[in-house]
Amino acid sequence: MKIAIVGTGYVGLVSAACFADVGVDVSCIDIDEAKIERLKRGEIPIYEPQLKEIIERCVAQGRLHFTTSLAEVINDVAITFIAVGTPPDEDGSADISQVLKVARQIGESLTQYNLIVTKSTVPVGSSQLIKQEIQSAFVERGLKLNFDVASNPEFLKEGKAVEDCMHPERVIIGVESPRAKALLEELYQMMGFRSEQVFFMDIQSSEMTKYAANAMLATRISFMNEIALLCEKVGANVDDVRAGIGSDSRIGKKFLNAGCGYGGSCFPKDIKALIKTGLAHEQEMKILTAVEEVNSYQKTVLFHKFQDYYLGSVAGKKVAVWGLAFKPETDDVRESCSMTLIAQLLEADCQVVVYDPIAIEPTRAIFGDRLIYADDVYASVEGVEAVFHITEWQEFRQLDWQKVRCKMKYPLFLDGRNIFTNLFEEGFTYLRIG
Ligand code: NAD
Repeated sequence: MKIAIVGTGYVGLVSAACFADVGVDVSCIDIDEAKIERLKRGEIPIYEPQLKEIIERCVAQGRLHFTTSLAEVINDVAITFIAVGTPPDEDGSADISQVLKVARQIGESLTQYNLIVTKSTVPVGSSQLIKQEIQSAFVERGLKLNFDVASNPEFLKEGKAVEDCMHPERVIIGVESPRAKALLEELYQMMGFRSEQVFFMDIQSSEMTKYAANAMLATRISFMNEIALLCEKVGANVDDVRAGIGSDSRIGKKFLNAGCGYGGSCFPKDIKALIKTGLAHEQEMKILTAVEEVNSYQKTVLFHKFQDYYLGSVAGKKVAVWGLAFKPETDDVRESCSMTLIAQLLEADCQVVVYDPIAIEPTRAIFGDRLIYADDVYASVEGVEAVFHITEWQEFRQLDWQKVRCKMKYPLFLDGRNIFTNLFEEGFTYLRIG
Protein backbone atom coordinates (compact mmCIF):
# COMPACT_ATOMS: atom_id res chain seq x y z
CA MET A 1 0.00 0.00 0.00
CA LYS A 2 1.18 3.52 -0.77
CA ILE A 3 0.19 6.47 1.39
CA ALA A 4 1.11 10.13 1.78
CA ILE A 5 1.41 12.06 5.03
CA VAL A 6 1.24 15.83 4.86
CA GLY A 7 3.10 17.57 7.71
CA THR A 8 6.30 16.12 9.16
CA GLY A 9 5.97 17.34 12.74
CA TYR A 10 5.73 15.15 15.84
CA VAL A 11 2.60 13.40 14.58
CA GLY A 12 3.28 13.22 10.85
CA LEU A 13 6.88 12.08 11.02
CA VAL A 14 6.34 9.50 13.74
CA SER A 15 3.25 8.08 11.99
CA ALA A 16 5.12 7.96 8.70
CA ALA A 17 8.04 6.11 10.25
CA CYS A 18 5.78 3.58 11.97
CA PHE A 19 3.68 2.86 8.87
CA ALA A 20 6.84 2.51 6.77
CA ASP A 21 8.38 0.17 9.31
CA VAL A 22 5.58 -2.37 8.80
CA GLY A 23 5.94 -2.31 5.02
CA VAL A 24 3.78 0.60 3.84
CA ASP A 25 5.34 2.87 1.21
CA VAL A 26 5.11 6.37 2.71
CA SER A 27 5.72 9.77 1.13
CA CYS A 28 6.15 12.61 3.63
CA ILE A 29 5.29 16.11 2.47
CA ASP A 30 6.08 19.37 4.22
CA ILE A 31 6.07 23.00 3.09
CA ASP A 32 9.13 23.64 5.23
CA GLU A 33 11.88 23.20 2.63
CA ALA A 34 14.70 23.29 5.19
CA LYS A 35 13.04 20.50 7.18
CA ILE A 36 12.65 18.32 4.08
CA GLU A 37 16.27 18.95 3.12
CA ARG A 38 17.39 17.93 6.60
CA LEU A 39 15.28 14.79 6.46
CA LYS A 40 16.75 13.92 3.06
CA ARG A 41 20.22 14.29 4.58
CA GLY A 42 19.22 11.87 7.34
CA GLU A 43 18.88 14.53 10.05
CA ILE A 44 15.83 14.15 12.29
CA PRO A 45 14.34 17.56 13.14
CA ILE A 46 12.69 16.46 16.40
CA TYR A 47 13.82 14.38 19.33
CA GLU A 48 11.77 11.25 19.92
CA PRO A 49 13.16 7.95 21.24
CA GLN A 50 13.71 5.24 18.53
CA LEU A 51 12.62 7.56 15.71
CA LYS A 52 16.04 8.07 14.14
CA GLU A 53 16.76 4.34 13.87
CA ILE A 54 13.39 3.57 12.28
CA ILE A 55 13.68 6.39 9.76
CA GLU A 56 17.21 5.34 8.80
CA ARG A 57 16.05 1.76 8.35
CA CYS A 58 13.00 2.65 6.24
CA VAL A 59 14.86 5.14 4.05
CA ALA A 60 17.57 2.54 3.42
CA GLN A 61 14.88 0.03 2.43
CA GLY A 62 13.29 2.57 0.07
CA ARG A 63 9.91 2.84 1.81
CA LEU A 64 10.13 6.38 3.20
CA HIS A 65 10.41 9.42 0.94
CA PHE A 66 10.50 13.16 1.62
CA THR A 67 9.29 15.93 -0.65
CA THR A 68 7.81 19.43 -0.60
CA SER A 69 5.45 18.64 -3.48
CA LEU A 70 2.08 17.15 -2.63
CA ALA A 71 1.05 17.32 -6.30
CA GLU A 72 3.93 15.02 -7.22
CA VAL A 73 2.80 12.15 -5.02
CA ILE A 74 -0.93 12.44 -4.42
CA ASN A 75 -2.06 10.51 -7.49
CA ASP A 76 0.30 7.68 -6.69
CA VAL A 77 -1.15 6.91 -3.25
CA ALA A 78 -4.40 5.39 -1.95
CA ILE A 79 -4.62 7.38 1.27
CA THR A 80 -3.49 10.89 2.20
CA PHE A 81 -3.16 11.74 5.87
CA ILE A 82 -3.26 15.37 6.95
CA ALA A 83 -1.04 15.94 10.01
CA VAL A 84 -0.35 19.67 9.91
CA GLY A 85 -0.65 22.02 12.87
CA THR A 86 -3.94 23.32 14.28
CA PRO A 87 -2.68 26.06 16.62
CA PRO A 88 -5.01 28.15 18.75
CA ASP A 89 -6.51 31.20 17.09
CA GLU A 90 -6.38 34.53 18.91
CA ASP A 91 -9.70 33.75 20.62
CA GLY A 92 -8.65 30.20 21.60
CA SER A 93 -10.58 28.33 18.92
CA ALA A 94 -8.62 25.89 16.74
CA ASP A 95 -7.15 27.51 13.64
CA ILE A 96 -7.65 24.94 10.90
CA SER A 97 -6.35 27.14 8.08
CA GLN A 98 -3.28 24.89 7.53
CA VAL A 99 -5.57 21.88 7.19
CA LEU A 100 -7.85 23.66 4.73
CA LYS A 101 -4.85 24.83 2.73
CA VAL A 102 -3.79 21.21 2.31
CA ALA A 103 -7.36 20.29 1.35
CA ARG A 104 -7.33 22.97 -1.33
CA GLN A 105 -3.99 21.68 -2.67
CA ILE A 106 -5.45 18.17 -2.78
CA GLY A 107 -8.47 19.44 -4.70
CA GLU A 108 -6.16 21.19 -7.15
CA SER A 109 -4.00 18.13 -7.82
CA LEU A 110 -6.19 15.03 -7.57
CA THR A 111 -6.98 13.11 -10.76
CA GLN A 112 -8.28 9.85 -9.28
CA TYR A 113 -9.98 8.45 -6.17
CA ASN A 114 -8.22 9.20 -2.88
CA LEU A 115 -9.11 8.81 0.77
CA ILE A 116 -8.22 11.95 2.73
CA VAL A 117 -7.80 11.25 6.43
CA THR A 118 -7.36 13.91 9.10
CA LYS A 119 -4.84 13.03 11.80
CA SER A 120 -4.54 16.60 13.04
CA THR A 121 -6.77 17.46 16.00
CA VAL A 122 -9.65 19.37 14.44
CA PRO A 123 -12.99 20.59 15.82
CA VAL A 124 -16.12 18.61 15.10
CA GLY A 125 -17.34 19.47 11.63
CA SER A 126 -13.88 20.07 10.13
CA SER A 127 -13.96 16.99 7.90
CA GLN A 128 -17.03 18.42 6.21
CA LEU A 129 -15.14 21.69 5.64
CA ILE A 130 -12.24 19.71 4.16
CA LYS A 131 -14.66 17.97 1.84
CA GLN A 132 -16.17 21.30 0.75
CA GLU A 133 -12.72 22.79 0.14
CA ILE A 134 -11.73 19.88 -2.11
CA GLN A 135 -15.06 19.98 -3.93
CA SER A 136 -14.79 23.72 -4.56
CA ALA A 137 -11.34 23.20 -6.10
CA PHE A 138 -12.90 20.50 -8.32
CA VAL A 139 -15.63 22.93 -9.40
CA GLU A 140 -12.95 25.47 -10.40
CA ARG A 141 -11.26 22.76 -12.45
CA GLY A 142 -14.63 21.76 -13.99
CA LEU A 143 -14.03 18.26 -12.60
CA LYS A 144 -16.15 15.62 -10.90
CA LEU A 145 -14.16 13.07 -8.94
CA ASN A 146 -15.01 10.50 -6.34
CA PHE A 147 -13.13 10.82 -3.04
CA ASP A 148 -13.72 10.16 0.64
CA VAL A 149 -12.82 11.94 3.84
CA ALA A 150 -12.22 10.23 7.17
CA SER A 151 -11.10 11.13 10.66
CA ASN A 152 -8.32 9.27 12.46
CA PRO A 153 -7.21 11.44 15.39
CA GLU A 154 -3.80 10.78 16.85
CA PHE A 155 -3.33 9.90 20.52
CA LEU A 156 0.44 9.50 20.67
CA LYS A 157 2.29 11.02 23.62
CA GLU A 158 5.47 12.95 22.89
CA GLY A 159 8.42 11.16 24.43
CA LYS A 160 6.69 7.81 23.86
CA ALA A 161 5.38 8.56 20.41
CA VAL A 162 6.89 5.59 18.56
CA GLU A 163 5.80 3.14 21.23
CA ASP A 164 2.27 4.62 21.21
CA CYS A 165 2.07 4.51 17.44
CA MET A 166 3.24 0.90 17.21
CA HIS A 167 1.20 -0.34 20.19
CA PRO A 168 -1.78 1.97 20.68
CA GLU A 169 -4.42 1.17 23.28
CA ARG A 170 -6.97 2.02 20.59
CA VAL A 171 -7.29 3.51 17.14
CA ILE A 172 -10.28 5.79 16.52
CA ILE A 173 -11.58 6.04 12.98
CA GLY A 174 -14.51 8.04 11.70
CA VAL A 175 -15.76 7.09 8.23
CA GLU A 176 -18.80 7.66 6.07
CA SER A 177 -18.29 5.10 3.29
CA PRO A 178 -17.57 1.34 3.14
CA ARG A 179 -14.67 2.02 0.75
CA ALA A 180 -12.97 4.32 3.25
CA LYS A 181 -13.53 1.80 6.03
CA ALA A 182 -12.04 -1.03 3.95
CA LEU A 183 -8.93 0.98 3.08
CA LEU A 184 -8.25 1.93 6.69
CA GLU A 185 -8.95 -1.61 7.86
CA GLU A 186 -6.34 -2.86 5.39
CA LEU A 187 -3.80 -0.26 6.53
CA TYR A 188 -4.25 -0.96 10.23
CA GLN A 189 -4.17 -4.72 9.62
CA MET A 190 -0.69 -4.17 8.20
CA MET A 191 0.18 -2.57 11.55
CA GLY A 192 -0.92 -5.85 13.14
CA PHE A 193 -3.68 -4.32 15.25
CA ARG A 194 -6.50 -6.54 16.51
CA SER A 195 -9.98 -5.60 15.28
CA GLU A 196 -11.14 -4.88 18.85
CA GLN A 197 -8.39 -2.24 19.09
CA VAL A 198 -9.83 -0.31 16.15
CA PHE A 199 -13.04 1.63 16.82
CA PHE A 200 -15.02 2.63 13.73
CA MET A 201 -17.64 5.32 14.19
CA ASP A 202 -19.08 8.32 12.37
CA ILE A 203 -16.77 11.23 11.64
CA GLN A 204 -18.28 13.66 14.17
CA SER A 205 -17.91 11.14 16.99
CA SER A 206 -14.32 10.44 16.02
CA GLU A 207 -13.42 14.14 15.98
CA MET A 208 -15.16 14.57 19.34
CA THR A 209 -13.44 11.52 20.89
CA LYS A 210 -10.03 13.17 20.56
CA TYR A 211 -11.12 16.35 22.34
CA ALA A 212 -13.09 14.47 25.00
CA ALA A 213 -10.05 12.29 25.80
CA ASN A 214 -7.72 15.26 26.25
CA ALA A 215 -10.38 17.15 28.19
CA MET A 216 -10.82 14.23 30.60
CA LEU A 217 -7.08 13.93 31.21
CA ALA A 218 -6.65 17.68 31.74
CA THR A 219 -9.62 17.62 34.12
CA ARG A 220 -7.97 14.95 36.26
CA ILE A 221 -4.79 17.04 36.46
CA SER A 222 -6.56 20.25 37.41
CA PHE A 223 -8.76 18.38 39.87
CA MET A 224 -5.72 16.98 41.68
CA ASN A 225 -3.95 20.34 41.58
CA GLU A 226 -6.91 21.98 43.24
CA ILE A 227 -7.03 19.22 45.85
CA ALA A 228 -3.26 19.73 46.38
CA LEU A 229 -3.74 23.42 47.14
CA LEU A 230 -6.39 22.55 49.70
CA CYS A 231 -4.12 19.84 51.16
CA GLU A 232 -1.51 22.52 51.86
CA LYS A 233 -4.07 24.65 53.68
CA VAL A 234 -5.46 21.84 55.84
CA GLY A 235 -2.18 20.00 56.46
CA ALA A 236 -2.90 16.91 54.35
CA ASN A 237 -0.38 15.22 52.03
CA VAL A 238 -1.59 15.06 48.44
CA ASP A 239 0.60 12.03 47.64
CA ASP A 240 -1.13 10.00 50.33
CA VAL A 241 -4.50 11.24 49.12
CA ARG A 242 -3.56 10.26 45.55
CA ALA A 243 -2.53 6.76 46.62
CA GLY A 244 -5.72 6.46 48.61
CA ILE A 245 -8.11 7.44 45.86
CA GLY A 246 -6.09 5.89 43.01
CA SER A 247 -6.46 2.42 44.47
CA ASP A 248 -10.19 2.65 43.82
CA SER A 249 -10.52 0.86 40.47
CA ARG A 250 -13.30 3.25 39.44
CA ILE A 251 -10.80 6.11 39.70
CA GLY A 252 -7.47 4.47 38.78
CA LYS A 253 -3.96 5.66 39.51
CA LYS A 254 -3.00 7.45 36.29
CA PHE A 255 -3.04 11.20 35.73
CA LEU A 256 -3.49 11.99 39.39
CA ASN A 257 -0.10 13.57 40.15
CA ALA A 258 -0.27 17.08 41.53
CA GLY A 259 2.29 19.44 40.03
CA CYS A 260 2.93 22.83 38.50
CA GLY A 261 0.28 22.43 35.80
CA TYR A 262 -0.10 20.87 32.38
CA GLY A 263 1.52 22.26 29.24
CA GLY A 264 2.48 21.06 25.80
CA SER A 265 1.12 21.56 22.34
CA CYS A 266 -2.12 19.66 22.94
CA PHE A 267 -3.91 19.97 26.30
CA PRO A 268 -3.91 23.79 26.58
CA LYS A 269 -5.00 24.38 23.00
CA ASP A 270 -7.48 21.49 22.84
CA ILE A 271 -9.24 22.50 26.05
CA LYS A 272 -9.57 26.07 24.79
CA ALA A 273 -10.82 24.82 21.42
CA LEU A 274 -13.46 22.57 22.99
CA ILE A 275 -14.72 25.45 25.13
CA LYS A 276 -15.03 27.48 21.91
CA THR A 277 -16.84 24.66 20.11
CA GLY A 278 -19.27 24.60 23.03
CA LEU A 279 -19.86 28.34 22.77
CA ALA A 280 -20.41 28.07 19.02
CA HIS A 281 -23.21 25.59 19.77
CA GLU A 282 -24.62 27.53 22.74
CA GLN A 283 -23.30 24.91 25.15
CA GLU A 284 -21.29 26.48 27.94
CA MET A 285 -18.45 24.13 28.97
CA LYS A 286 -18.44 25.00 32.66
CA ILE A 287 -16.13 22.22 33.86
CA LEU A 288 -13.52 22.84 31.17
CA THR A 289 -13.54 26.58 31.78
CA ALA A 290 -12.65 25.83 35.40
CA VAL A 291 -10.03 23.25 34.35
CA GLU A 292 -8.29 25.92 32.31
CA GLU A 293 -8.53 28.53 35.03
CA VAL A 294 -7.09 26.16 37.63
CA ASN A 295 -4.22 25.28 35.31
CA SER A 296 -3.32 28.90 34.51
CA TYR A 297 -3.10 29.60 38.23
CA GLN A 298 -1.17 26.39 38.91
CA LYS A 299 1.58 27.45 36.52
CA THR A 300 2.26 30.42 38.84
CA VAL A 301 2.22 28.54 42.16
CA LEU A 302 5.95 27.82 42.38
CA PHE A 303 6.83 31.42 41.64
CA HIS A 304 4.51 32.56 44.45
CA LYS A 305 6.14 30.07 46.84
CA PHE A 306 9.55 31.45 45.88
CA GLN A 307 8.40 35.04 46.38
CA ASP A 308 6.78 34.23 49.71
CA TYR A 309 9.90 32.45 50.90
CA TYR A 310 12.03 35.53 50.22
CA LEU A 311 9.30 37.81 51.61
CA GLY A 312 8.69 39.39 48.23
CA SER A 313 12.23 40.58 47.55
CA VAL A 314 13.50 38.41 44.73
CA ALA A 315 14.88 41.05 42.34
CA GLY A 316 18.54 40.36 41.45
CA LYS A 317 18.46 36.78 42.73
CA LYS A 318 20.14 34.15 40.60
CA VAL A 319 17.99 31.02 40.18
CA ALA A 320 18.14 27.79 38.20
CA VAL A 321 15.29 26.24 36.23
CA TRP A 322 15.67 22.49 35.65
CA GLY A 323 13.73 21.16 32.72
CA LEU A 324 12.36 23.24 29.86
CA ALA A 325 10.43 20.70 27.80
CA PHE A 326 6.78 20.30 28.77
CA LYS A 327 7.57 16.73 29.79
CA PRO A 328 10.56 14.37 29.74
CA GLU A 329 11.88 12.68 26.58
CA THR A 330 10.84 15.49 24.26
CA ASP A 331 12.34 18.78 23.09
CA ASP A 332 8.90 20.38 22.78
CA VAL A 333 8.63 23.53 24.92
CA ARG A 334 5.25 24.70 23.63
CA GLU A 335 3.13 26.02 26.54
CA SER A 336 5.53 24.32 28.96
CA CYS A 337 5.32 25.32 32.63
CA SER A 338 8.96 26.43 32.48
CA MET A 339 8.15 29.04 29.85
CA THR A 340 5.54 30.64 32.13
CA LEU A 341 7.86 30.45 35.15
CA ILE A 342 10.86 31.91 33.27
CA ALA A 343 8.75 34.82 32.03
CA GLN A 344 7.69 35.53 35.64
CA LEU A 345 11.26 35.28 36.94
CA LEU A 346 12.56 37.66 34.27
CA GLU A 347 9.71 40.05 34.97
CA ALA A 348 10.78 40.03 38.63
CA ASP A 349 14.38 40.88 37.58
CA CYS A 350 15.87 37.54 38.53
CA GLN A 351 18.94 36.18 36.79
CA VAL A 352 17.81 32.88 35.29
CA VAL A 353 20.06 29.92 34.52
CA VAL A 354 18.35 27.11 32.62
CA TYR A 355 19.24 23.50 32.02
CA ASP A 356 17.54 20.75 30.01
CA PRO A 357 19.20 17.69 28.46
CA ILE A 358 17.42 18.21 25.11
CA ALA A 359 15.31 21.37 24.94
CA ILE A 360 17.90 24.19 25.16
CA GLU A 361 17.71 25.31 21.53
CA PRO A 362 13.90 25.69 21.33
CA THR A 363 14.13 27.76 24.53
CA ARG A 364 16.92 29.92 23.13
CA ALA A 365 14.65 30.59 20.14
CA ILE A 366 12.12 32.12 22.56
CA PHE A 367 14.23 33.90 25.19
CA GLY A 368 17.51 34.52 23.32
CA ASP A 369 20.27 36.02 25.48
CA ARG A 370 17.97 36.93 28.36
CA LEU A 371 18.82 33.57 29.97
CA ILE A 372 22.05 31.79 30.92
CA TYR A 373 22.15 28.36 29.26
CA ALA A 374 24.01 25.77 31.34
CA ASP A 375 25.77 22.81 29.72
CA ASP A 376 25.22 20.52 32.64
CA VAL A 377 23.05 20.32 35.68
CA TYR A 378 25.82 21.04 38.23
CA ALA A 379 26.98 24.12 36.32
CA SER A 380 23.40 25.41 36.42
CA VAL A 381 23.31 25.73 40.22
CA GLU A 382 26.56 27.68 40.74
CA GLY A 383 25.71 30.54 43.12
CA VAL A 384 21.93 30.27 42.82
CA GLU A 385 19.46 31.00 45.60
CA ALA A 386 16.77 28.65 44.34
CA VAL A 387 16.35 25.66 42.05
CA PHE A 388 13.01 25.11 40.31
CA HIS A 389 12.50 21.50 39.26
CA ILE A 390 9.95 21.56 36.45
CA THR A 391 10.48 18.64 34.04
CA GLU A 392 11.09 15.26 35.64
CA TRP A 393 13.97 14.08 33.45
CA GLN A 394 15.50 10.82 34.66
CA GLU A 395 18.88 12.57 34.93
CA PHE A 396 17.62 14.65 37.88
CA ARG A 397 16.91 11.51 39.89
CA GLN A 398 20.53 10.40 39.92
CA LEU A 399 22.36 13.44 41.27
CA ASP A 400 25.04 13.96 43.89
CA TRP A 401 22.87 16.13 46.12
CA GLN A 402 25.74 17.28 48.33
CA LYS A 403 27.54 18.55 45.25
CA VAL A 404 24.38 20.40 44.18
CA ARG A 405 23.85 21.90 47.65
CA CYS A 406 27.48 23.02 48.03
CA LYS A 407 27.39 24.89 44.73
CA MET A 408 24.21 26.78 45.62
CA LYS A 409 24.37 30.10 47.45
CA TYR A 410 21.21 29.14 49.36
CA PRO A 411 19.72 25.61 49.17
CA LEU A 412 16.09 26.42 48.38
CA PHE A 413 14.59 23.70 46.18
CA LEU A 414 11.12 24.10 44.67
CA ASP A 415 9.83 20.83 43.27
CA GLY A 416 7.10 21.22 40.66
CA ARG A 417 6.77 17.45 40.26
CA ASN A 418 6.85 16.24 43.86
CA ILE A 419 9.45 13.54 43.35
CA PHE A 420 12.37 14.30 45.69
CA THR A 421 11.20 13.10 49.06
CA ASN A 422 14.81 12.94 50.37
CA LEU A 423 15.91 16.54 49.92
CA PHE A 424 14.96 17.75 53.39
CA GLU A 425 17.40 15.19 54.85
CA GLU A 426 20.05 16.30 52.34
CA GLY A 427 19.98 19.77 53.91
CA PHE A 428 17.74 21.58 51.43
CA THR A 429 14.82 23.82 52.17
CA TYR A 430 12.38 21.76 50.16
CA LEU A 431 9.10 23.20 48.94
CA ARG A 432 6.67 21.16 46.88
CA ILE A 433 3.06 21.14 45.76
CA GLY A 434 0.39 19.80 48.12
P1 NAD B 1 4.02 20.32 14.27
O1 NAD B 1 3.84 21.78 14.36
O2 NAD B 1 5.14 19.65 14.97
O3 NAD B 1 4.12 19.89 12.71
C1 NAD B 1 3.27 20.35 11.73
C2 NAD B 1 4.02 20.30 10.40
O4 NAD B 1 3.11 20.61 9.35
C3 NAD B 1 5.16 21.29 10.29
O5 NAD B 1 6.35 20.64 9.92
C4 NAD B 1 4.71 22.25 9.19
O6 NAD B 1 5.78 22.78 8.42
C5 NAD B 1 3.82 21.35 8.37
N1 NAD B 1 2.87 22.06 7.50
C6 NAD B 1 2.09 23.13 7.78
N2 NAD B 1 1.36 23.46 6.71
C7 NAD B 1 1.67 22.58 5.74
C8 NAD B 1 1.24 22.42 4.39
N3 NAD B 1 0.33 23.22 3.82
N4 NAD B 1 1.76 21.41 3.66
C9 NAD B 1 2.70 20.58 4.22
N5 NAD B 1 3.14 20.70 5.48
C10 NAD B 1 2.63 21.70 6.22
O7 NAD B 1 2.63 19.70 14.72
P2 NAD B 1 2.36 18.33 15.54
O8 NAD B 1 2.76 18.49 16.96
O9 NAD B 1 2.87 17.20 14.75
O10 NAD B 1 0.77 18.31 15.51
C11 NAD B 1 0.05 18.11 14.31
C12 NAD B 1 -1.41 17.91 14.67
O11 NAD B 1 -1.56 16.71 15.45
C13 NAD B 1 -2.05 19.02 15.49
O12 NAD B 1 -3.38 19.16 15.12
C14 NAD B 1 -1.96 18.49 16.91
O13 NAD B 1 -2.95 19.03 17.73
C15 NAD B 1 -2.20 17.01 16.70
N6 NAD B 1 -1.61 16.15 17.73
C16 NAD B 1 -0.37 16.42 18.22
C17 NAD B 1 0.18 15.56 19.17
C18 NAD B 1 1.53 15.85 19.76
O14 NAD B 1 1.85 15.23 20.78
N7 NAD B 1 2.33 16.73 19.19
C19 NAD B 1 -0.54 14.45 19.61
C20 NAD B 1 -1.77 14.18 19.06
C21 NAD B 1 -2.31 15.05 18.11
